Amino acid sequence: MQYLRGVGPGRAALLARLGVETVGDLLLHLPRRHEDRRHPTPLARLAVDCEQAAIVRIEDVRTIRTRRGMVLVRAGVADATGVAHAVWFNQPYLSGRLRRGQLVSLYGRVERAGRGVQFVAPEVEPLDPDAEPWNVGRLVPVYPATEGLTQRALRAIIRDALETSSGIPEVLPEAVREAHGLIGLREALWAVHFPDDEAAYAAARRRLGFEELFVLQLGVLQQRAALEATPRGARYAPAGGLVGRFVAALPFALTDAQRRAIDEILTDLDGPSPMNRLLQGDVGSGKTVVAAAALLRCVEGGYQGALMAPTEILAVQHFLTLHRMLAPLGVTVHPLVGGMDAAARAPTLEWVRRGEPGVVVGTHALLEEGVAFERLGLAVIDEQHRFGVVQRSRLREKGRAPDVLVMTATPIPRTLVLTVYGDLDVTLLDALPPGRTPVVTHVRPKAARPAVYAYVREQVAAGRQAFVVCPLIEESESLQVRSAVELARELASGPLAGVRVEVMHGRLTAAQKADRMEAFRAGRIDVLVATTVIEVGIDVPNASIMVIEDADRYGLAQLHQLRGRVGRGAAKAHCVLIADPVTEEGRRRLEVMRATTDGFRIAQEDLRLRGPGEVLGVRQHGVAGLRVADPITDLPLLEEARRAATALLREDPELRGGQVRELAAAVRRRLQGRAELASVG
Ligand code: ADP
Ligand code: MG
Repeated sequence: MQYLRGVGPGRAALLARLGVETVGDLLLHLPRRHEDRRHPTPLARLAVDCEQAAIVRIEDVRTIRTRRGMVLVRAGVADATGVAHAVWFNQPYLSGRLRRGQLVSLYGRVERAGRGVQFVAPEVEPLDPDAEPWNVGRLVPVYPATEGLTQRALRAIIRDALETSSGIPEVLPEAVREAHGLIGLREALWAVHFPDDEAAYAAARRRLGFEELFVLQLGVLQQRAALEATPRGARYAPAGGLVGRFVAALPFALTDAQRRAIDEILTDLDGPSPMNRLLQGDVGSGKTVVAAAALLRCVEGGYQGALMAPTEILAVQHFLTLHRMLAPLGVTVHPLVGGMDAAARAPTLEWVRRGEPGVVVGTHALLEEGVAFERLGLAVIDEQHRFGVVQRSRLREKGRAPDVLVMTATPIPRTLVLTVYGDLDVTLLDALPPGRTPVVTHVRPKAARPAVYAYVREQVAAGRQAFVVCPLIEESESLQVRSAVELARELASGPLAGVRVEVMHGRLTAAQKADRMEAFRAGRIDVLVATTVIEVGIDVPNASIMVIEDADRYGLAQLHQLRGRVGRGAAKAHCVLIADPVTEEGRRRLEVMRATTDGFRIAQEDLRLRGPGEVLGVRQHGVAGLRVADPITDLPLLEEARRAATALLREDPELRGGQVRELAAAVRRRLQGRAELASVG
């Protein structure tokens, strides 16, 4: 970087703050937008309070020192239609640069000044008939910037990089470029920064976005092909009707969506290569039953099944649920979570090693060294969005080409499915079990807390149960725990005196968590005051009220997950969001929650308000490292790139051809990046 003209150590440090470490980064430090400075406004027609361009002659330049010690440079300017002024603050060197009679371009905000108008701190560039202007008179890039680095400076550095760096390899084979009408890399980089017009910019963006998506899809499709070429590790003994008996014993009928999902999975399990499937279904759509059916088929076939959950509480709950459902069918279920001590783990570890058919349910603890499966057939990962791709492959490596089912309640738009999870087959649970009435959501100010808790009291008296979620403190788990403990104490000694209140948080031992979940489920606790440890998966149908304190601190997806803990039984469920939002966006988010219970709409809104990187927890690198392509809106381009990638791989599955050498290297880099990126999420 420092070898570029105008970039010394100081600027290199500033650029690093923008995530720009290499010339490549710099060239892909894309403008947030372009300002249209092509059409100068005649001075007589300047409008106030907006930004405009003008071409003017400098009439006079004065430097004024204000009483406050500021240096003001003020120029009188004119064109054929009228006169105006331009002022700059604390840029005394300008007075030396601007000469009387000189023709310059101005761009900036115009304000009223006395009886005339003036440009306030406009960008100024001399009109030089021999040189192309970069800051005026054209579409001018506006970059994500950082303090100490002006737009002008950034433009100059990037322009130099464009001029001097011939070293960026063209990755797209010519045949692909021709087939898809894509311009060359060099041209595209110029035009994405300094386009002549809108069409040039669009062509550049399309080319660069296509390249990103194409490389990503090649990687994803190659991974997928590699997996499909792998013979499956587990060869299950023929089915003997266990899944059928399980389904018949359920207290409800499966939804059509669940039935379809189970069919697809059972077909996969009999297929020639390992299953690699994503089960997507909104909160409460009944994914656990589908997982249980898959695990049963695996056990019946003579193998071990593992279910991994992101939190200890959820793992414990799954353990209890599966144990309850599967024990009557003669299938053993073992727990394995971080909070268990060595003595408690020993029987599970021993069982895992022996290779006896059955199911183990746990957390990340399943990934530890000491967990050595003798016969892992199927690995299920619940709430996949809480894990990374890395954990998925680590669990897979616990077996010999086992089947993998990942489940998520985060409704991911199709574009993201293809980019982030493009190596997976996808099953959608697109319907909720019948008879659910949507949760009614209320937004209340803090001043209404007494009324809210009086209502909770009433409902408890009528036999209902409630969750109360304490305010989010992201910085520190121990503070968060304290906040839950204090809230529980406050409620138990005040508005909920006499009600059976208990607290639930991450610092309890596994046994304590299990006891309290069981007590809550059994109705021995009325109100569970909790941290976000209850966010995912918890399923207690009699709980019909959820109160969330300081709800505006939570993201939409999180609120949706939390709210999904209620509305699982027959009783009408209510969710009360307590908040005094200070920003317009805060109000909007609460309004979205009030207005809809549709997870897909909430996710769309969340993506819109916070951006995909933030939502998926990969904010440092953007989604899947995409810088140009937009993972939400570029679906058509993505599909085109995916088709092109499929076609190329059909001809050259290993990307060995001479004309794709650069491309193959780019795909390898991208796959590495993807693995690293996944560990961030
Ligand atoms: P999620 O998809 O959020 O993981 P769960 O698997 O926890 O959902 O299921 C939510 C609740 O719905 C559970 O209490 C479960 O027993 C119940 N359930 C699942 N399938 C059905 C069904 N077909 N009919 C009625 N209730 C169901
Ligand atoms: Mg679940």
